[in-house]
Amino acid sequence: QIPVITIDGPSGSGKGTVTGLVARQLGWHVLDSGAIYRVLALAAEQSGIAPTSEAALRTMALQLQVEFVDGKTLLGGADVGRAIRTESVGSYASQIASLEGVREGLLQRQRDFRQEPGLVADGRDMGTVVFTDAPLKIFLTASAEERARRRYLQLKEAGHSVNLPALVEEIRARDERDTNREVAPLKPADDAIVLDSTTLTIEQVVERVLAEATT
Ligand code: C5P
Repeated sequence: QIPVITIDGPSGSGKGTVTGLVARQLGWHVLDSGAIYRVLALAAEQSGIAPTSEAALRTMALQLQVEFVDGKTLLGGADVGRAIRTESVGSYASQIASLEGVREGLLQRQRDFRQEPGLVADGRDMGTVVFTDAPLKIFLTASAEERARRRYLQLKEAGHSVNLPALVEEIRARDERDTNREVAPLKPADDAIVLDSTTLTIEQVVERVLAEATT
């Protein structure tokens, strides 16, 4: 079996950064499953598909021309790395992510990332649905305020204009949707290690994950 480390948690918990650093240390592949949901959201928005059109979204999920090449996120060959990072696309992604048809449509595509020598998979349901047999599952959390603050800095750095109070609201609303949805709700797998990163540095979290990976 090709090894997988799953890193699940709410937005702004630091999963993305931790996933990248752990993968680099181990020399493994990365799956940013949120980016796939975001690319689908962008494609659907561009085609004028309503976030409730489950059948159309499922078809689109199965046919989605998404690629990750040299750190770039491509949709039908076009670089959408920046476009998918807006809160509007994030919100649309979170709405369509509550549809069973969408999740099913993206399932195999995500599993295909499991390649030698190993995979670090970042998402909401990596440990509970996509890679249930992963030998190491991490659930990364942090307080909502801290997560909003981190997202704020990230967005600002990327050149987006942001409003912190609006961001806290948006993050809360998204958490609530992700946690309370019926399909693949955001929760730690029974066999996950829960890490609260509110008062930890990225380096400390990475160290913890690598220590677990090598025991
Ligand atoms: O992680 P990120 O914020 O990029 O994900 C965008 C949205 O996609 C999340 O709010 C969540 O609703 C959805 N998502 C999901 N399952 C995943 C990854 C992302 O439902 N594995």
